[in-house]
Amino acid sequence: DHGLSEADPEVRAIINKEKERQFKSLELIASENFTSRAVMEAVGSCLTNKYSEGLPGKRYYGGNEYIDELEILCQKRALAAFHLDENKWGVNVQPLSGSPANFEVYTAILNPHDRIMGLDLPHGGHLSHGFMTPKRRVSGTSIYFESTPYRLDESTGLVDYDMLEKTATLFRPKLIICGASAYPRDFDYPRMRKIADAVGAFLMMDMAHISGLVAASVVADPFEYCDIVTTTTHKSLRGPRGGMIFFKKDPVLGVDLESAINNAVFPGLQGGPHNHTIGGLAVCLQHAQSPEFKAYQNQVVSNCRALARRLVELGYTLVSGGSDNHLVLVDLRPLGIDGARVEKILDMASITLNKNSVPGDKSALVPGGIRIGSPAMTTRGFTEKEFTAIADFIHEGVQITIEAKGLASGSKVQEFLKFVSSPDFPLTDKVSN
Ligand code: PLP
Repeated sequence: DHGLSEADPEVRAIINKEKERQFKSLELIASENFTSRAVMEAVGSCLTNKYSEGLPGKRYYGGNEYIDELEILCQKRALAAFHLDENKWGVNVQPLSGSPANFEVYTAILNPHDRIMGLDLPHGGHLSHGFMTPKRRVSGTSIYFESTPYRLDESTGLVDYDMLEKTATLFRPKLIICGASAYPRDFDYPRMRKIADAVGAFLMMDMAHISGLVAASVVADPFEYCDIVTTTTHKSLRGPRGGMIFFKKDPVLGVDLESAINNAVFPGLQGGPHNHTIGGLAVCLQHAQSPEFKAYQNQVVSNCRALARRLVELGYTLVSGGSDNHLVLVDLRPLGIDGARVEKILDMASITLNKNSVPGDKSALVPGGIRIGSPAMTTRGFTEKEFTAIADFIHEGVQITIEAKGLASGSKVQEFLKFVSSPDFPLTDKVSN
């Protein structure tokens, strides 16, 4: 049996290049992080070889005594990491990632075409929360369920809870979803609970982006108010790529969430769990209970605040004016440029972040903002000082983008182009027109 370098040098070389890219760039994508070597070791282990459809003690294959031990350990650590009472909350650690976890919840508690409300994608929500355009039902969630999103108040950049309440009263959703991919503030869970109760809806939080911050108690606790909490495991939580679904053990609205959700995961939508991921997740969840992890998450938030502060000093407009978590959303429209161009220019300087729509954007393809996250570089040991420097680098990139856009559309270039394409400009033999 050969190692990768011998068995497949081509793939080894690609991995080496990607490793170098990761190491040599400023990784500011808010949903990314660097997991630990211990997690990687578990993910790259023999656990990948085993089939174990079902749950611990109730498998469809033999040979699962150690896999059972592992999954039970992972479940226990998941509940402990989020400070949950085992008698009140349960967890399924098998979802293959965040989007499948969400769809599993929907199919567990809803009938086809039941109504749901999540934060609109252009306002920071995630595709899997029911995104659709006036022309097309984009996400599977909006194809199989009826979605009416709620939105931000564009003047404050905060969730418009009053409008959410009014819409929910008319639309009467069966599920309201908290959580976002690009929202720099906490959700008002007590308010959302009240709205959900008033219309008889389940309340779910997709804490994918902030699950590390929740585990470390540096943001509000969604478990106090929600019936179901889903998450990815590879963002601020710093684990392997995967998903989890937490559910209340007592029935909610007459539904036994435990059996409904477990059945939706398997056999509803998945087959064999990815045991290597569950192994890596167990390692991550052990670490998530340590004082170092809490210190890391505090640093994630402090770094993000330092970045936001410097950007504001430099004159930038931030959606909601700042950040309470791990990301900032910069509105570039006042500068006359878009997020797509800035993303490209910064990419050339090994600064990796992403273009993002901001409330009020007309185009999703050329959105007016950028999203900047602090988890990954905080893992690399960056503090407020380095994040202040990062704001200055981003500023330089923005200035270059403004100049480049000016050059491209500037009258000098336009006049020159007009001249060279006019009949007055002599064509050489080599050019046919
Ligand atoms: N939920 C939220 C809030 C997300 O931001 C994301 C991904 O960015 C997901 C779910 C989907 O996770 P995955 O990419 O693992 O399917």
